[in-house]
Amino acid sequence: MNQTEIMENVEQYVLHTYNRFPIAIDRGEGLYAYDAEGRKYLDFMAGIAVFALGYHFPEYDEALKAQIDKVLHTSNLYYHEPLATAAKAVVTSTGLSKVFFTNSGAEAIEGALKAARKYAWLKDGKNDHEIIAMKSSFHGRSIGALSVTGNDHYQEPFRPLMGGVVFAEFNNFESVLEKVNDRTCAIVMETVQGEGGIYPADPAFIKAVRKLCDERDILLILDEIQCGMGRTGKMWAYEHYGIKPDIMTCAKALGCGVPVGAFVLSDKAAKASLVAGDHGTTYGGNPFVLAAVTEVFKLFEKHDVVGHVGKITPYLTKKLDELMAAHPDKIRAHRGLGLIRGLELDPGVPVGGITSKALEEGLLIISAGSNVLRFVPPLIITEKEVDEAVAILEKCFA
Ligand SMILES: *Cc1c(COP(=O)(O)O)cnc(C)c1O
Repeated sequence: MNQTEIMENVEQYVLHTYNRFPIAIDRGEGLYAYDAEGRKYLDFMAGIAVFALGYHFPEYDEALKAQIDKVLHTSNLYYHEPLATAAKAVVTSTGLSKVFFTNSGAEAIEGALKAARKYAWLKDGKNDHEIIAMKSSFHGRSIGALSVTGNDHYQEPFRPLMGGVVFAEFNNFESVLEKVNDRTCAIVMETVQGEGGIYPADPAFIKAVRKLCDERDILLILDEIQCGMGRTGKMWAYEHYGIKPDIMTCAKALGCGVPVGAFVLSDKAAKASLVAGDHGTTYGGNPFVLAAVTEVFKLFEKHDVVGHVGKITPYLTKKLDELMAAHPDKIRAHRGLGLIRGLELDPGVPVGGITSKALEEGLLIISAGSNVLRFVPPLIITEKEVDEAVAILEKCFA
């Protein structure tokens, strides 16, 4: 099929839940994607923060091919080596205790919510527990994950959602205190809000929430599905704050392109929550995806990917600051941590106009929320690609 035929067929047969950019991506190479007509694009969205290593990282591809020749799937009723190696890598890197692998980010959130409910139920046998979630958050599209997603537009048509959820304001500890009570079993938040507009947690806020959770035996669930896996310049964003969650969720870059997520529990949460029969998944953490996860952790270590993020971040930050300074009437703010960054645009500059124009100029970039241009490039970008992206954006804003 040519590009037009691909797009026509997709629109004819696929349920229209996405407004797609008008290209069909055919292949990728390093930091560049190619459409079905062979046109080249610099990729600064990385499959929505998924391709941390870019396209076709050679050792990654080889590890996956080798696993295809051994076994793709076993079900979770048997042991397999990729489960052992990936679980060890995840648990060791988080400093937590046990992991459960899922197929997606939303499922990782579902598992985390179930674990928190079970933890509280084991303590008092009651079914009235509450979860405090944050306004402007995003945790996924399944009913449980949607129930803790602080976005009326996403929630409204699907009510009633899961009960027992109340919303506080992110980075406003007073608003958390107003919502907390004896029924509160968990507080869930992204360490860096992604879809909501790229807002990192304030250190004082997240530390105060951690302390509150410790005092009242509430589980702190940190969603690092987008901001984890080295993106902020630490392997996990919570490391910036000197705290640890009781449960952490990850996905997106965990498998660098294969569908995999995870929720990871502290010793305390793991010892008194989900047990055999409480939770499961047919595909979750199968040998194929966990061969990828195992290789991703190996490659992160071998190529010091997290160290590289630390080194390249100041350059990207400086360039985006310069872009903002050159267009004060169009760019209102620049926020972020490491390689998850946002430029907040003036209401008079529709972000969709900028992302569409960027596409025409050969740059893949996306928005976050209604007015933020989001930067979640592969973690292996260099100054050369930063310059190339910023030169294109300069044209788009001009
Ligand atoms: C993408 C995302 C999710 C949902 O992940 P899916 O794999 O799309 O289900 C949840 N939380 C955050 C912070 C995300 O960015």
